[in-house]
Amino acid sequence: MQWSYTIGRIAGTDIKVHVTFLLVVGWWALMGYSQGGPTAALASALALLALFACVLLHEFGHILMARRFGVRTPDVILLPIGGVARLERIPEEPRQELLIALAGPAVTLAIAVILYLVLRLGGSGAQVAELSEHQPFLAFLVTVNIYLLLFNLIPAFPMDGGRVLRALLASRLGLVRGTRIAATLGQSLAVIGGLYGLTREEPLLILVAFFVFLGASAEAAAVETRAAGQGLQVGQMMVTNFRTVPIHATLAQAVNLLLSGEQREFPVVDNYGRTEGILTRDNLIKGLSQRGPDSGVAEAMTPNVPTVPPTLGFQEALDRLRASHLPALPVVDVSGTLVGLLTMDNITDLLLIRRAQG
Ligand code: ZN
Repeated sequence: MQWSYTIGRIAGTDIKVHVTFLLVVGWWALMGYSQGGPTAALASALALLALFACVLLHEFGHILMARRFGVRTPDVILLPIGGVARLERIPEEPRQELLIALAGPAVTLAIAVILYLVLRLGGSGAQVAELSEHQPFLAFLVTVNIYLLLFNLIPAFPMDGGRVLRALLASRLGLVRGTRIAATLGQSLAVIGGLYGLTREEPLLILVAFFVFLGASAEAAAVETRAAGQGLQVGQMMVTNFRTVPIHATLAQAVNLLLSGEQREFPVVDNYGRTEGILTRDNLIKGLSQRGPDSGVAEAMTPNVPTVPPTLGFQEALDRLRASHLPALPVVDVSGTLVGLLTMDNITDLLLIRRAQG
């Protein structure tokens, strides 16, 4: 996710903080300062640090449960709406997703119960409200964890409650339909919550609604794409009718190629047909303006581009294409021969066709 920064790493998972989370921390400290000066600002900051730790423990509930099912978690991002553990993949079994979704709230419940017992054994009375006089900090944490628990169990996908709902729906209706229904409900709740936040002037609620809405549509789209591409290999989804540019060609020659057809990205090959790089339309335009039409393709192209084998599976190929930030990747077989071009346009067309054919 953009605007997030890595602050540490625990058990193979990067801990990232989104800039909006830092804004909330700053706002909170400022509120404390305005109410009681530096001491209150420090107390506010400490309270937030504890909250931060509780949210992280909640996320590691998800992460460790996911690991039990062989699903790794490359990173967890802290947003104002809580944490988002980015699982490598959705587990195959809806039952596994159910357990992963419930593990976070279970940790939060455990924290709340333990802190509550600590308070009670401290002999300060039974009610959390009464305790807040004597033990403001712990009582605050108990309250916050109960709030976190209830909030996360709202069935607004992709929040935990929504994931539980998706898992239950997926076990009966399949992953795609289950996700579609859960995401629609999540977005509806986000719109209602966002409108309520607007009328009540609750900026945090509006922010939460915004993240839930975006998260629901992104996850639903990812599930649909994966389902549509299931079983496909690069060899079936690459462009096979394409032209290459010799590495000794001039930009003027490349311009002629670009204007003579629909192709936008050209593999650049040496005398033996080996791929040296890719000349994108942007490369070409930039090279023309900086060095002129008589300059060489070799200086203008993007060199050392990653190649993909024709036997690579759909999801892995899509991930590599996205990670490369290039519009096309050369497809090269085991003998080193350039056999195709993997482009997002072609993948989109293929998925549309597969969906139309059911
Ligand atoms: Zn959670």
